[in-house]
Amino acid sequence: MDFAPSDLAESLREEVRALCRGFPPEYWREHDHAGGYPWEFLKAFAERGWLGLVIPERYGGSGLGVTEAGVMLEAICESGAGLSGASPIHFYLFPLTPVIHHGSEEMKAAWLPALARGELMSAFGITEPDAGSDTSRISTRAKRREGGWTISGQKVWTTNAENAQKILLLARDQPRDDAQPYAGLTLFFTDLDRSRVTVRRIEKLGREAVDSNEVFINGLEAADADVVGEVGKGFAYLLDGLNPERIVIAFEAVGIGRAALRIAAAYARERVVFDRPIGRNQAIAHPLAAAWAKLEAAELLAFKAAWLFDHGRPCGREANAAKLLAADAGFEAADAALQTLGGFGYAKEYHLERLWREVRLYKIAPVSQQMVLNYLAQHVLELPKSY
Ligand SMILES: Cc1cc2nc3c(=O)[nH]c(=O)nc-3n(C[C@H](O)[C@H](O)[C@H](O)COP(=O)(O)OP(=O)(O)OC[C@H]3O[C@@H](n4cnc5c(N)ncnc54)[C@H](O)[C@@H]3O)c2cc1C
Repeated sequence: MDFAPSDLAESLREEVRALCRGFPPEYWREHDHAGGYPWEFLKAFAERGWLGLVIPERYGGSGLGVTEAGVMLEAICESGAGLSGASPIHFYLFPLTPVIHHGSEEMKAAWLPALARGELMSAFGITEPDAGSDTSRISTRAKRREGGWTISGQKVWTTNAENAQKILLLARDQPRDDAQPYAGLTLFFTDLDRSRVTVRRIEKLGREAVDSNEVFINGLEAADADVVGEVGKGFAYLLDGLNPERIVIAFEAVGIGRAALRIAAAYARERVVFDRPIGRNQAIAHPLAAAWAKLEAAELLAFKAAWLFDHGRPCGREANAAKLLAADAGFEAADAALQTLGGFGYAKEYHLERLWREVRLYKIAPVSQQMVLNYLAQHVLELPKSY
Protein backbone atom coordinates (compact mmCIF):
# COMPACT_ATOMS: atom_id res chain seq x y z
CA MET A 1 0.00 0.00 0.00
CA ASP A 2 1.21 3.46 -0.86
CA PHE A 3 -0.35 6.23 1.20
CA ALA A 4 1.77 9.04 -0.19
CA PRO A 5 0.03 11.60 -2.38
CA SER A 6 1.67 11.81 -5.80
CA ASP A 7 4.50 14.25 -6.54
CA LEU A 8 1.99 16.20 -8.60
CA ALA A 9 -0.43 16.50 -5.67
CA GLU A 10 2.41 17.49 -3.32
CA SER A 11 3.74 20.17 -5.63
CA LEU A 12 0.22 21.48 -6.15
CA ARG A 13 -0.21 21.65 -2.36
CA GLU A 14 3.00 23.68 -2.04
CA GLU A 15 2.01 26.06 -4.82
CA VAL A 16 -1.45 26.60 -3.33
CA ARG A 17 0.09 27.22 0.09
CA ALA A 18 2.42 29.81 -1.42
CA LEU A 19 -0.44 31.55 -3.18
CA CYS A 20 -2.58 31.55 -0.03
CA ARG A 21 0.18 33.29 1.93
CA GLY A 22 -0.71 36.35 -0.12
CA PHE A 23 -4.20 36.24 1.41
CA PRO A 24 -3.70 36.48 5.17
CA PRO A 25 -6.43 35.87 7.74
CA GLU A 26 -7.16 39.63 7.87
CA TYR A 27 -8.23 39.50 4.21
CA TRP A 28 -10.78 36.80 5.05
CA ARG A 29 -11.96 38.52 8.22
CA GLU A 30 -12.62 41.68 6.24
CA HIS A 31 -14.55 39.80 3.55
CA ASP A 32 -16.50 37.93 6.18
CA HIS A 33 -17.36 41.21 7.84
CA ALA A 34 -18.24 43.22 4.74
CA GLY A 35 -19.57 40.30 2.70
CA GLY A 36 -17.66 41.11 -0.51
CA TYR A 37 -16.88 38.26 -2.90
CA PRO A 38 -13.14 37.38 -2.86
CA TRP A 39 -12.57 38.27 -6.50
CA GLU A 40 -8.80 38.74 -6.15
CA PHE A 41 -8.46 35.23 -4.76
CA LEU A 42 -10.59 33.72 -7.52
CA LYS A 43 -8.58 35.61 -10.16
CA ALA A 44 -5.30 34.29 -8.74
CA PHE A 45 -6.60 30.73 -9.11
CA ALA A 46 -7.92 31.42 -12.60
CA GLU A 47 -4.54 32.80 -13.69
CA ARG A 48 -2.82 29.58 -12.65
CA GLY A 49 -5.40 27.47 -14.49
CA TRP A 50 -6.60 25.85 -11.26
CA LEU A 51 -10.30 26.54 -11.75
CA GLY A 52 -10.21 23.99 -14.57
CA LEU A 53 -8.44 21.37 -12.47
CA VAL A 54 -11.00 18.59 -13.13
CA ILE A 55 -12.16 19.82 -16.54
CA PRO A 56 -10.77 17.57 -19.30
CA GLU A 57 -7.75 18.94 -21.16
CA ARG A 58 -9.60 19.06 -24.49
CA TYR A 59 -11.93 21.66 -22.96
CA GLY A 60 -9.13 23.79 -21.58
CA GLY A 61 -8.75 22.18 -18.16
CA SER A 62 -6.05 20.06 -16.53
CA GLY A 63 -8.00 16.79 -16.45
CA LEU A 64 -6.82 15.94 -12.93
CA GLY A 65 -8.65 13.86 -10.35
CA VAL A 66 -10.48 14.27 -7.12
CA THR A 67 -7.24 13.58 -5.21
CA GLU A 68 -5.60 16.72 -6.57
CA ALA A 69 -8.82 18.71 -6.11
CA GLY A 70 -9.03 17.55 -2.49
CA VAL A 71 -5.41 18.41 -1.81
CA MET A 72 -5.90 21.87 -3.31
CA LEU A 73 -9.06 22.62 -1.31
CA GLU A 74 -7.54 21.27 1.90
CA ALA A 75 -4.51 23.54 1.45
CA ILE A 76 -6.79 26.56 0.96
CA CYS A 77 -8.72 25.78 4.13
CA GLU A 78 -5.58 25.00 6.10
CA SER A 79 -4.11 28.37 5.18
CA GLY A 80 -6.77 30.01 7.33
CA ALA A 81 -8.93 31.00 4.36
CA GLY A 82 -11.49 28.39 5.44
CA LEU A 83 -14.64 28.10 3.40
CA SER A 84 -14.54 31.80 2.51
CA GLY A 85 -11.62 30.84 0.28
CA ALA A 86 -12.46 27.24 -0.59
CA SER A 87 -16.10 27.67 -1.63
CA PRO A 88 -15.51 29.96 -4.62
CA ILE A 89 -13.00 27.41 -5.97
CA HIS A 90 -15.12 24.40 -4.97
CA PHE A 91 -17.99 25.67 -7.10
CA TYR A 92 -15.80 25.49 -10.22
CA LEU A 93 -14.99 21.86 -9.51
CA PHE A 94 -17.96 19.77 -8.46
CA PRO A 95 -21.35 21.10 -9.42
CA LEU A 96 -20.06 20.86 -13.00
CA THR A 97 -19.54 17.08 -12.89
CA PRO A 98 -22.88 16.30 -14.65
CA VAL A 99 -22.00 18.71 -17.47
CA ILE A 100 -18.57 17.11 -17.90
CA HIS A 101 -19.97 13.56 -17.86
CA HIS A 102 -23.32 14.00 -19.59
CA GLY A 103 -23.35 17.34 -21.42
CA SER A 104 -23.40 17.32 -25.23
CA GLU A 105 -20.21 18.04 -27.16
CA GLU A 106 -21.64 21.44 -28.12
CA MET A 107 -22.44 22.30 -24.51
CA LYS A 108 -18.99 21.31 -23.28
CA ALA A 109 -17.15 23.06 -26.11
CA ALA A 110 -19.24 26.19 -25.63
CA TRP A 111 -18.90 26.62 -21.88
CA LEU A 112 -16.18 24.53 -20.24
CA PRO A 113 -13.19 26.47 -21.62
CA ALA A 114 -14.61 29.78 -20.39
CA LEU A 115 -15.36 28.22 -17.00
CA ALA A 116 -11.82 26.80 -16.81
CA ARG A 117 -10.45 30.30 -17.45
CA GLY A 118 -12.72 31.76 -14.78
CA GLU A 119 -14.49 34.00 -17.30
CA LEU A 120 -17.85 32.53 -16.39
CA MET A 121 -19.42 31.66 -13.06
CA SER A 122 -22.12 29.07 -12.50
CA ALA A 123 -24.69 28.71 -9.75
CA PHE A 124 -26.12 25.37 -8.70
CA GLY A 125 -29.89 25.27 -8.17
CA ILE A 126 -31.22 22.07 -6.67
CA THR A 127 -32.58 22.80 -3.18
CA GLU A 128 -36.05 24.33 -2.85
CA PRO A 129 -37.98 25.62 0.15
CA ASP A 130 -40.01 22.37 0.28
CA ALA A 131 -37.30 20.05 -1.01
CA GLY A 132 -33.92 19.82 0.68
CA SER A 133 -32.78 16.32 1.57
CA ASP A 134 -35.68 14.89 -0.43
CA THR A 135 -34.86 16.08 -3.95
CA SER A 136 -37.80 14.14 -5.36
CA ARG A 137 -40.08 16.84 -3.89
CA ILE A 138 -38.82 19.69 -6.06
CA SER A 139 -41.62 21.53 -7.81
CA THR A 140 -39.80 23.97 -10.12
CA ARG A 141 -41.50 23.20 -13.41
CA ALA A 142 -40.02 23.00 -16.91
CA LYS A 143 -42.70 23.20 -19.59
CA ARG A 144 -42.10 22.41 -23.23
CA ARG A 145 -42.47 25.16 -25.79
CA GLU A 146 -41.44 25.38 -29.43
CA GLY A 147 -37.66 24.75 -29.56
CA GLY A 148 -37.17 24.71 -25.84
CA TRP A 149 -38.50 25.08 -22.34
CA THR A 150 -40.03 27.62 -20.00
CA ILE A 151 -39.05 27.21 -16.37
CA SER A 152 -40.79 28.64 -13.30
CA GLY A 153 -40.38 27.96 -9.61
CA GLN A 154 -38.22 28.77 -6.63
CA LYS A 155 -34.82 27.64 -5.42
CA VAL A 156 -33.16 28.33 -2.09
CA TRP A 157 -29.59 28.38 -0.80
CA THR A 158 -28.31 28.85 -4.33
CA THR A 159 -24.64 29.72 -3.96
CA ASN A 160 -23.14 32.30 -6.38
CA ALA A 161 -26.52 33.39 -7.83
CA GLU A 162 -25.69 37.06 -7.22
CA ASN A 163 -22.90 37.01 -9.79
CA ALA A 164 -23.29 33.88 -11.92
CA GLN A 165 -24.01 34.06 -15.63
CA LYS A 166 -24.99 30.38 -15.82
CA ILE A 167 -26.97 28.03 -13.61
CA LEU A 168 -27.12 24.27 -13.38
CA LEU A 169 -30.78 23.91 -12.61
CA LEU A 170 -32.91 20.90 -11.73
CA ALA A 171 -36.55 21.16 -12.77
CA ARG A 172 -39.51 18.84 -13.06
CA ASP A 173 -40.69 18.09 -16.58
CA GLN A 174 -43.55 15.85 -15.39
CA PRO A 175 -45.74 15.85 -12.29
CA ARG A 176 -44.32 13.74 -9.46
CA ASP A 177 -45.22 10.07 -9.60
CA ASP A 178 -45.06 8.34 -6.20
CA ALA A 179 -44.14 5.07 -7.90
CA GLN A 180 -41.08 6.70 -9.53
CA PRO A 181 -40.33 9.80 -7.50
CA TYR A 182 -36.99 10.57 -9.20
CA ALA A 183 -38.28 10.25 -12.75
CA GLY A 184 -39.28 13.35 -14.69
CA LEU A 185 -36.48 15.53 -13.35
CA THR A 186 -34.39 17.31 -15.96
CA LEU A 187 -31.10 19.09 -15.50
CA PHE A 188 -30.49 22.32 -17.43
CA PHE A 189 -27.26 24.23 -17.85
CA THR A 190 -28.62 27.56 -18.93
CA ASP A 191 -28.26 31.33 -18.75
CA LEU A 192 -29.24 32.94 -15.50
CA ASP A 193 -31.36 35.51 -17.33
CA ARG A 194 -31.97 38.26 -14.81
CA SER A 195 -35.02 39.54 -16.63
CA ARG A 196 -36.76 36.27 -15.59
CA VAL A 197 -34.98 35.55 -12.33
CA THR A 198 -34.91 37.47 -9.06
CA VAL A 199 -32.18 36.79 -6.53
CA ARG A 200 -32.46 37.59 -2.83
CA ARG A 201 -29.49 37.09 -0.54
CA ILE A 202 -29.90 35.00 2.64
CA GLU A 203 -28.19 36.29 5.78
CA LYS A 204 -26.44 33.38 7.40
CA LEU A 205 -24.17 32.15 10.19
CA GLY A 206 -20.90 32.05 8.27
CA ARG A 207 -19.14 32.29 4.90
CA GLU A 208 -20.59 35.72 4.34
CA ALA A 209 -18.08 36.41 1.56
CA VAL A 210 -19.81 33.84 -0.63
CA ASP A 211 -23.46 34.60 -1.29
CA SER A 212 -26.30 32.13 -0.68
CA ASN A 213 -29.63 33.09 -2.14
CA GLU A 214 -33.28 32.60 -2.70
CA VAL A 215 -33.91 32.46 -6.44
CA PHE A 216 -37.33 33.21 -7.88
CA ILE A 217 -37.71 31.93 -11.45
CA ASN A 218 -40.50 33.32 -13.54
CA GLY A 219 -40.68 32.08 -17.14
CA LEU A 220 -36.96 31.46 -17.63
CA GLU A 221 -36.44 30.33 -21.23
CA ALA A 222 -34.02 27.46 -21.88
CA ALA A 223 -33.18 25.97 -25.26
CA ASP A 224 -33.29 22.24 -25.98
CA ALA A 225 -29.51 22.47 -26.26
CA ASP A 226 -29.40 23.52 -22.59
CA VAL A 227 -30.64 20.12 -21.41
CA VAL A 228 -27.82 18.12 -19.79
CA GLY A 229 -27.98 14.58 -21.20
CA GLU A 230 -31.49 13.25 -21.66
CA VAL A 231 -34.77 14.76 -20.56
CA GLY A 232 -36.06 13.14 -17.36
CA LYS A 233 -32.71 11.72 -16.22
CA GLY A 234 -31.43 14.71 -14.29
CA PHE A 235 -31.42 13.06 -10.90
CA ALA A 236 -29.24 10.17 -12.08
CA TYR A 237 -26.73 12.68 -13.48
CA LEU A 238 -26.63 14.54 -10.20
CA LEU A 239 -25.76 11.34 -8.36
CA ASP A 240 -22.54 11.14 -10.38
CA GLY A 241 -21.29 14.28 -8.72
CA LEU A 242 -22.19 13.31 -5.16
CA ASN A 243 -19.24 11.10 -4.27
CA PRO A 244 -16.50 13.44 -5.51
CA GLU A 245 -18.17 16.34 -3.74
CA ARG A 246 -18.38 14.43 -0.45
CA ILE A 247 -14.70 13.55 -0.79
CA VAL A 248 -13.50 17.11 -1.30
CA ILE A 249 -15.72 18.31 1.51
CA ALA A 250 -13.91 15.87 3.78
CA PHE A 251 -10.58 17.40 2.72
CA GLU A 252 -11.92 20.92 3.31
CA ALA A 253 -13.16 20.08 6.81
CA VAL A 254 -9.80 18.53 7.68
CA GLY A 255 -8.04 21.67 6.42
CA ILE A 256 -10.15 23.93 8.60
CA GLY A 257 -9.60 21.69 11.62
CA ARG A 258 -5.84 21.89 11.10
CA ALA A 259 -5.93 25.67 10.74
CA ALA A 260 -7.81 25.87 14.04
CA LEU A 261 -5.36 23.55 15.81
CA ARG A 262 -2.42 25.62 14.59
CA ILE A 263 -3.87 28.77 16.12
CA ALA A 264 -4.80 26.99 19.34
CA ALA A 265 -1.44 25.26 19.82
CA ALA A 266 0.45 28.52 19.30
CA TYR A 267 -1.78 30.23 21.84
CA ALA A 268 -1.55 27.36 24.35
CA ARG A 269 2.25 27.49 24.25
CA GLU A 270 2.34 31.22 24.99
CA ARG A 271 -0.62 32.02 27.20
CA VAL A 272 0.33 31.89 30.87
CA VAL A 273 -2.38 31.45 33.49
CA PHE A 274 -1.65 30.47 37.10
CA ASP A 275 2.04 30.91 36.30
CA ARG A 276 2.26 28.29 33.57
CA PRO A 277 1.45 27.95 29.89
CA ILE A 278 -2.10 26.70 29.56
CA GLY A 279 -0.85 24.00 27.15
CA ARG A 280 0.71 22.26 30.14
CA ASN A 281 -2.79 21.46 31.39
CA GLN A 282 -3.94 18.17 29.98
CA ALA A 283 -7.50 19.46 29.92
CA ILE A 284 -6.24 21.86 27.24
CA ALA A 285 -3.72 19.57 25.54
CA HIS A 286 -5.74 16.37 25.26
CA PRO A 287 -8.73 17.70 23.32
CA LEU A 288 -6.31 19.27 20.84
CA ALA A 289 -4.27 16.07 20.55
CA ALA A 290 -7.41 13.95 20.14
CA ALA A 291 -8.70 16.34 17.49
CA TRP A 292 -5.39 16.05 15.62
CA ALA A 293 -5.65 12.25 15.60
CA LYS A 294 -9.24 12.32 14.33
CA LEU A 295 -8.32 14.72 11.54
CA GLU A 296 -5.51 12.39 10.45
CA ALA A 297 -7.90 9.42 10.37
CA ALA A 298 -10.55 11.33 8.44
CA GLU A 299 -7.97 12.52 5.92
CA LEU A 300 -6.71 8.99 5.40
CA LEU A 301 -10.22 7.80 4.56
CA ALA A 302 -10.68 10.79 2.26
CA PHE A 303 -7.49 9.79 0.42
CA LYS A 304 -8.75 6.23 0.12
CA ALA A 305 -12.10 7.40 -1.24
CA ALA A 306 -10.33 9.75 -3.68
CA TRP A 307 -8.03 6.96 -4.85
CA LEU A 308 -10.99 4.65 -5.45
CA PHE A 309 -12.88 7.33 -7.38
CA ASP A 310 -9.86 8.27 -9.49
CA HIS A 311 -9.32 4.61 -10.35
CA GLY A 312 -12.92 4.17 -11.45
CA ARG A 313 -13.85 1.97 -8.50
CA PRO A 314 -17.02 2.17 -6.37
CA CYS A 315 -16.45 4.59 -3.49
CA GLY A 316 -19.89 5.45 -2.10
CA ARG A 317 -19.30 4.03 1.36
CA GLU A 318 -15.81 5.56 1.71
CA ALA A 319 -16.88 8.95 0.32
CA ASN A 320 -19.85 9.14 2.70
CA ALA A 321 -17.89 7.89 5.70
CA ALA A 322 -15.03 10.32 5.00
CA LYS A 323 -17.46 13.24 4.84
CA LEU A 324 -19.12 12.11 8.08
CA LEU A 325 -15.88 11.70 10.01
CA ALA A 326 -14.20 14.82 8.63
CA ALA A 327 -17.18 17.11 9.27
CA ASP A 328 -17.25 15.93 12.89
CA ALA A 329 -13.47 16.02 13.30
CA GLY A 330 -13.20 19.47 11.72
CA PHE A 331 -15.86 20.91 13.98
CA GLU A 332 -14.44 19.17 17.06
CA ALA A 333 -11.01 20.62 16.31
CA ALA A 334 -12.43 24.12 15.82
CA ASP A 335 -14.45 23.83 19.02
CA ALA A 336 -11.52 22.57 21.09
CA ALA A 337 -9.39 25.34 19.62
CA LEU A 338 -11.96 27.98 20.44
CA GLN A 339 -12.15 26.71 24.04
CA THR A 340 -8.37 26.88 24.26
CA LEU A 341 -8.36 30.60 23.60
CA GLY A 342 -10.94 31.28 26.28
CA GLY A 343 -12.49 34.70 25.80
CA PHE A 344 -10.20 35.46 22.86
CA GLY A 345 -11.65 32.46 21.05
CA TYR A 346 -14.78 34.54 20.83
CA ALA A 347 -12.94 37.58 19.45
CA LYS A 348 -12.74 38.15 15.71
CA GLU A 349 -9.07 39.10 16.06
CA TYR A 350 -7.94 35.50 16.45
CA HIS A 351 -9.87 34.19 13.41
CA LEU A 352 -11.07 31.08 15.20
CA GLU A 353 -14.68 32.01 15.55
CA ARG A 354 -14.91 32.40 11.74
CA LEU A 355 -13.44 28.93 11.16
CA TRP A 356 -15.76 27.51 13.81
CA ARG A 357 -18.81 29.04 12.12
CA GLU A 358 -17.70 27.95 8.67
CA VAL A 359 -16.89 24.33 9.40
CA ARG A 360 -20.23 23.86 11.14
CA LEU A 361 -21.83 24.03 7.71
CA TYR A 362 -20.44 20.66 6.71
CA LYS A 363 -22.57 18.84 9.27
CA ILE A 364 -25.61 20.20 7.38
CA ALA A 365 -24.77 20.74 3.71
CA PRO A 366 -24.54 19.63 0.99
CA VAL A 367 -25.81 16.55 2.79
CA SER A 368 -26.49 16.27 6.51
CA GLN A 369 -24.73 13.87 8.84
CA GLN A 370 -28.04 12.08 9.40
CA MET A 371 -28.56 11.46 5.69
CA VAL A 372 -25.02 10.08 5.44
CA LEU A 373 -25.78 7.71 8.30
CA ASN A 374 -29.01 6.73 6.57
CA TYR A 375 -26.96 5.90 3.47
CA LEU A 376 -24.41 3.82 5.39
CA ALA A 377 -27.11 1.99 7.37
CA GLN A 378 -29.01 1.09 4.23
CA HIS A 379 -26.30 0.52 1.64
CA VAL A 380 -23.46 -0.87 3.75
CA LEU A 381 -25.23 -2.57 6.66
CA GLU A 382 -28.25 -3.53 4.53
CA LEU A 383 -30.69 -2.26 7.13
CA PRO A 384 -34.19 -1.35 6.00
CA LYS A 385 -34.52 2.09 4.47
CA SER A 386 -35.63 4.40 7.27
CA TYR A 387 -37.41 7.12 5.31
C1 LIG B 1 -24.51 27.79 3.14
C2 LIG B 1 -25.28 26.82 2.32
C3 LIG B 1 -25.00 26.72 0.96
C4 LIG B 1 -25.75 25.88 0.16
N1 LIG B 1 -25.51 25.85 -1.20
C5 LIG B 1 -26.39 25.20 -2.00
C6 LIG B 1 -26.32 25.33 -3.42
O1 LIG B 1 -25.44 26.02 -3.95
N2 LIG B 1 -27.25 24.70 -4.17
C7 LIG B 1 -28.23 23.94 -3.63
O2 LIG B 1 -29.03 23.40 -4.38
N3 LIG B 1 -28.33 23.78 -2.28
C8 LIG B 1 -27.44 24.40 -1.47
N4 LIG B 1 -27.55 24.28 -0.10
C9 LIG B 1 -28.64 23.48 0.46
C10 LIG B 1 -28.19 22.20 1.16
O3 LIG B 1 -27.82 21.26 0.19
C11 LIG B 1 -29.35 21.74 2.06
O4 LIG B 1 -29.41 22.66 3.15
C12 LIG B 1 -29.16 20.33 2.55
O5 LIG B 1 -29.33 19.43 1.48
C13 LIG B 1 -30.20 19.98 3.65
O6 LIG B 1 -31.49 20.26 3.20
P1 LIG B 1 -32.47 21.16 4.08
O7 LIG B 1 -31.71 22.33 4.55
O8 LIG B 1 -33.70 21.42 3.29
O9 LIG B 1 -32.81 20.28 5.32
P2 LIG B 1 -34.06 19.27 5.47
O10 LIG B 1 -34.06 18.29 4.35
O11 LIG B 1 -35.29 20.08 5.69
O12 LIG B 1 -33.69 18.52 6.81
C14 LIG B 1 -33.74 19.19 8.08
C15 LIG B 1 -33.07 18.30 9.11
O13 LIG B 1 -33.82 17.07 9.21
C16 LIG B 1 -32.94 15.97 9.03
N5 LIG B 1 -33.65 14.88 8.35
C17 LIG B 1 -34.52 14.97 7.31
N6 LIG B 1 -34.96 13.75 6.97
C18 LIG B 1 -34.33 12.87 7.77
C19 LIG B 1 -34.34 11.45 7.89
N7 LIG B 1 -35.07 10.67 7.10
N8 LIG B 1 -33.54 10.88 8.83
C20 LIG B 1 -32.78 11.64 9.65
N9 LIG B 1 -32.74 12.98 9.59
C21 LIG B 1 -33.49 13.59 8.65
C22 LIG B 1 -31.80 16.50 8.16
O14 LIG B 1 -30.65 15.72 8.29
C23 LIG B 1 -31.64 17.91 8.73
O15 LIG B 1 -30.82 17.88 9.88
C24 LIG B 1 -26.78 25.07 0.74
C25 LIG B 1 -27.03 25.15 2.11
C26 LIG B 1 -26.31 26.02 2.89
C27 LIG B 1 -26.65 26.12 4.35
